[in-house]
Amino acid sequence: MSSRLLVVGAAGKMGKAVQAAASGRSDLAVSGTVDAGDDVAAALAGCDVYIDFSTPAATALAARAAATTRPAAVIGTTGLTADANAALEALSEVAPVIVAANFSLGVNLMLGLVRQAAKALGEWDAEVVETHHNKKRDAPSGTALAIARAIAAGHGVEYDAVKRHTRDGEIGARPHGEIGVATMRGGDVVGEHVAYFFGEAERIEIAHRATSRSIFATGALVAAAWLVGKPPGRYTMLDVLGLPS
Ligand code: NAD
Repeated sequence: MSSRLLVVGAAGKMGKAVQAAASGRSDLAVSGTVDAGDDVAAALAGCDVYIDFSTPAATALAARAAATTRPAAVIGTTGLTADANAALEALSEVAPVIVAANFSLGVNLMLGLVRQAAKALGEWDAEVVETHHNKKRDAPSGTALAIARAIAAGHGVEYDAVKRHTRDGEIGARPHGEIGVATMRGGDVVGEHVAYFFGEAERIEIAHRATSRSIFATGALVAAAWLVGKPPGRYTMLDVLGLPS
C-alpha cells in the first residue's frame, strides 16, 4: 500500500517538481498539497509523510502543526531561521525528520569527498564558489554552507570560527585556515558548487553541477519513502543512501 504524501510549497518550483516525480512512484501517493494561505494543520492530519520546499516561516509553521499528528517530515527549505530550526528540533522528538540543504545523490557524495580532501590537505587554502539562478532568495546556498562545514569538519575546526562570506576593500592577507564562500547569481542556473583546495603550485577542484531540479525532487521522494515508519529522531541523506557518515 502506498504512503500518503503531502506537498508543502506545492505551487513553487520544487513543489511542482516533487508532484511530477511522485507520479512515477507506486510507494507514495500525493494525498494533499498546500501553499500560502492554505490550512496546513488540516492537510497534515491526513498524511503519513510530508515534503516541504517552501520558506523558513512556512517550514516553522508546518513543523509546529505536524507535532500533533506526527507524520514523517522531509525538509528541503534552505536559509532556515533559528525559529524554524527550533520547531524542527521539537518535531524530531515525536516524529522522524530529515533536513537536507540538497537532496541530490551527487552532492551528498561530494560532501564526503570534500571532507576527506580537507582532512588530507589541512594546510591547503579551501574556498567554495556557488552559482544559482537570479531568483534565488538566500545566499550563500544551503549546499555551499554544507560543503564549507564539511571542509571545517575535515580540518577539525568549528566552521563559525573560520568562515568568510564576503571580501571587500583592504582585507589584508588571507588568514591561514580561513574558509571562504563566494556567491554568483544569474540566469537559470539550477545549482553549481565547486570546492577549491589551493596548494603550492597545484590545486584540486571538486565540483557538482545540477542541470535539472528533478534530482532534488527524486532524492526527496527517496528520503520520504525511506523515512515512513522510522522511529522519531533526526536523519540525514547519508542514512537514506546507506553511505558512511
Ligand atoms: P519557490 O519560491 O518557487 O516556492 C516556494 C513556495 O512556497 C511558493 O509557492 C510559496 O507560495 C510557498 N509558500 C510560501 N508561504 C507558504 C506557506 N505559509 N505555506 C505553504 N507554502 C508557502 O521556491 P523553490 O525554488 O521551489 O524553493 C523552495 C525552497 O527549497 C527554497 O528554500 C530553496 O532554496 C529550497 N531548495 C532546496 C533544495 C534541496 O535539495 N534541499 C533544492 C532546491 C531548492
